[in-house]
Amino acid sequence: MKEQVMLNRVCAECGEPIVVTHQTAGDIIYYQKKTYHSKCFRKLCKGKRRKAGDKWDKALQDFDTIRFKSNAHFNDLLIRDELYIFIMEQYKIEVIPSFVWQRLNEIFTGTYKGMTKGIPPSHLLDMWRRYIRKLNKIAAENTVKGKTFNTDMRIRYDLVVLINKYDSYLKWREKQKILAAEQQRKILERNKSFIDIKTIQTKSKEHCEQNIENEMTGLVDDIFD
Ligand SMILES: [Zn+2]
Repeated sequence: MKEQVMLNRVCAECGEPIVVTHQTAGDIIYYQKKTYHSKCFRKLCKGKRRKAGDKWDKALQDFDTIRFKSNAHFNDLLIRDELYIFIMEQYKIEVIPSFVWQRLNEIFTGTYKGMTKGIPPSHLLDMWRRYIRKLNKIAAENTVKGKTFNTDMRIRYDLVVLINKYDSYLKWREKQKILAAEQQRKILERNKSFIDIKTIQTKSKEHCEQNIENEMTGLVDDIFD
């Protein structure tokens, strides 16, 4: 059972603890390396604002952008945590070996040898989850052939496989987007004549998500081939 990842912070304005999860991240502000409840941040800006156009006035004007960036910042941290938990669970290790931290950083930034672009943590995690069965199969086949890898070697090996599959993964994602749009269009067309358009939008989205999920499950095996 997967635990919900969370980050514990303290609001730099009211001093109360803040629990950041994917659900709450949208309402938490990260500004100049400090964390705030969005309400507290607004209050702070209003209190500190001395004249129009000063730093705090600007922060208030840019509130939506700051909130959007904060959300991205926290989601990225949460996904990194999910990735570390995933690695520990899948490879049955208590701590992440230091070379893995280093390798992951090189992968995120695209500085690992032979890489032309970085792989964002969210893509790496998604790709790894979808591909883990295949990676386990490859490991089992290697063992049969007499090539037994210890955990470190196995992770190194698997990361190289994932890096090499990244282009196919990106193509696959694109294809999923097109399929989803196509599916949505068909459902909308099918229902247009007899149901209120607003109801459809919600329903078709659900149908569509369900269909995509079904299709994705079917595709998992040949995603990256
Ligand atoms: Zn607060």
